[in-house]
Amino acid sequence: MQLRRVCYTDGMDTTFIEELRAIVGDDGLRVTDAQKHVYAFDAYTLEKSLPGVVALPRSAEEVAAVARLCHRRGVSMVPRGAGTGLAGGTLTHDNQVMVCLSRMNRILDIDLPNERMRAQAGAININLTKAVAPDGYLYAPDPSSQGACTLGGNIANNSGGPHTLKYGVTVNHILAVQVVLPDGEIVELSQDDHGYDLVGMIVGSEGTLGIVTEATVRVVRAPEAIRTLLAVCHSVDDATNLVSAIIGAGIVPAALEMMDQTILEAVERTYHFGFPTEAGAVLIIEVDGPEVGIDRQTERIEAICRDGGALRVSVAADAEERAKLWMARKKSIGTIGRLAPSCMTQDGVAPRTKLPAILREVGEIAAKYDLRIANVFHAGDGNLHPCVLFDERDPEEVKRVLAAGGDILRACVREGGTLTGEHGIGIEKQEFLGLIFSPDDLDTMAAIRSVFNPDGLLNPGKLFPAGGTCCPQLPRTDNEALLVMTHTHATAV
Ligand SMILES: Cc1cc2nc3c(=O)[nH]c(=O)nc-3n(C[C@H](O)[C@H](O)[C@H](O)COP(=O)(O)OP(=O)(O)OC[C@H]3O[C@@H](n4cnc5c(N)ncnc54)[C@H](O)[C@@H]3O)c2cc1C
Repeated sequence: MQLRRVCYTDGMDTTFIEELRAIVGDDGLRVTDAQKHVYAFDAYTLEKSLPGVVALPRSAEEVAAVARLCHRRGVSMVPRGAGTGLAGGTLTHDNQVMVCLSRMNRILDIDLPNERMRAQAGAININLTKAVAPDGYLYAPDPSSQGACTLGGNIANNSGGPHTLKYGVTVNHILAVQVVLPDGEIVELSQDDHGYDLVGMIVGSEGTLGIVTEATVRVVRAPEAIRTLLAVCHSVDDATNLVSAIIGAGIVPAALEMMDQTILEAVERTYHFGFPTEAGAVLIIEVDGPEVGIDRQTERIEAICRDGGALRVSVAADAEERAKLWMARKKSIGTIGRLAPSCMTQDGVAPRTKLPAILREVGEIAAKYDLRIANVFHAGDGNLHPCVLFDERDPEEVKRVLAAGGDILRACVREGGTLTGEHGIGIEKQEFLGLIFSPDDLDTMAAIRSVFNPDGLLNPGKLFPAGGTCCPQLPRTDNEALLVMTHTHATAV
């Protein structure tokens, strides 16, 4: 079908806006600059751009009608959940429609005998667990942003969280999805279907294949017993060596997170938890499972930490103390505002055993570019989150921040890791795709995209540059054979 392009002179065509209004209603449209400013950026704060119009549908049928209209008029769409993405995946231009799913936030069905629940894509992550917690279940993927981010955004980015180490990333918990394709067709895809794993293809596709409107997720039984330890270490080196020591001893903790001195300083200035700010780093280590044997496992971890030089190891005495530790970890990135006006959070992955070397290199990169970098990350997965502190009003400093981010990603790939553990490529990391993918790889992925999104109307310019695979080929490493698709959340070895 031949697409008729809308001609934009001053913002969006008014008849087009009126057609949109007829679908989502007056209260489902944001048209003024003041209204649209909220949608001009996500948590990748380095770029901002006002969308042409924001549509807030209430049902899959409304999403489909918006898509049909956009398809007919040749207008591109950008899906958005809560805008907590850290790679600029929701950035929208003034000739595009942002389709924001935040009003589609209902839990639709809970089926505990079959350990599953169905929810709309705009449901907030934490609300899934809250809905089943009274019955002793939980939804395992728990990004640190879980109080705000949506199920649809989690699916698009194949999000992880502290408990990914034991429970896996989002793709391991999605049983079925309802998706609106760019031409407005509503399709239901299920893991129960025989044939290609189309659900797996949608998860991690960063809104470039379809707009997820609903999903059926796996829920798991909440563990009978949990122990949460805090290991205080003299240095980042000591802490990262402990990570490999614990897992090398055959223990798979539910979570194994690291916070360095800089992030502890920010957390302390904000919450006054009483963390030892003189420590070089702390590890939060959690084990869970049956009550029987859990204390024995906790004692083994305590012994490994002490043998590995930890200054102090303690076990949270009760649920309140455990909650305090997790609050410190999960809210830590938000506390960085105490240290600097802006922060860019990187997301490279390195093999676990390379963590000491890679974090030393992150320190050298900080010195080279005269920047302060805080580290808080999923250490057990080898998923680094160096948080580069800066002031976005200083263009010269922004250049150094971008250069430092590039150096960090290159270092991760050189050490046998990859570009993203969970935040996705978005617009942030496109120029680095050539580090891990050959032109053939990229052509294959572009071919898959064009099956779902043949006119390129859905989230153009994200994940891959708009035109397809025009990414510069950067020098490849000896490790390239070890690298897998970035969205499989590379598991550290
Ligand atoms: C403080 C902080 C901590 C974080 N911690 C973690 C963490 O521990 N683990 C982690 O994985 N991430 C983390 N993130 C990143 C972010 O929260 C996740 O990527 C999250 O899944 C994004 O969800 P969202 O609803 O905000 O999506 P958005 O930011 O709105 O969108 C993200 C991407 O998904 C697409 N999208 C959104 N909704 C849909 C839909 N319904 N259908 C199709 N495409 C869609 C968008 O186009 C975009 O490309 C953190 C972010 C912050 C700010």
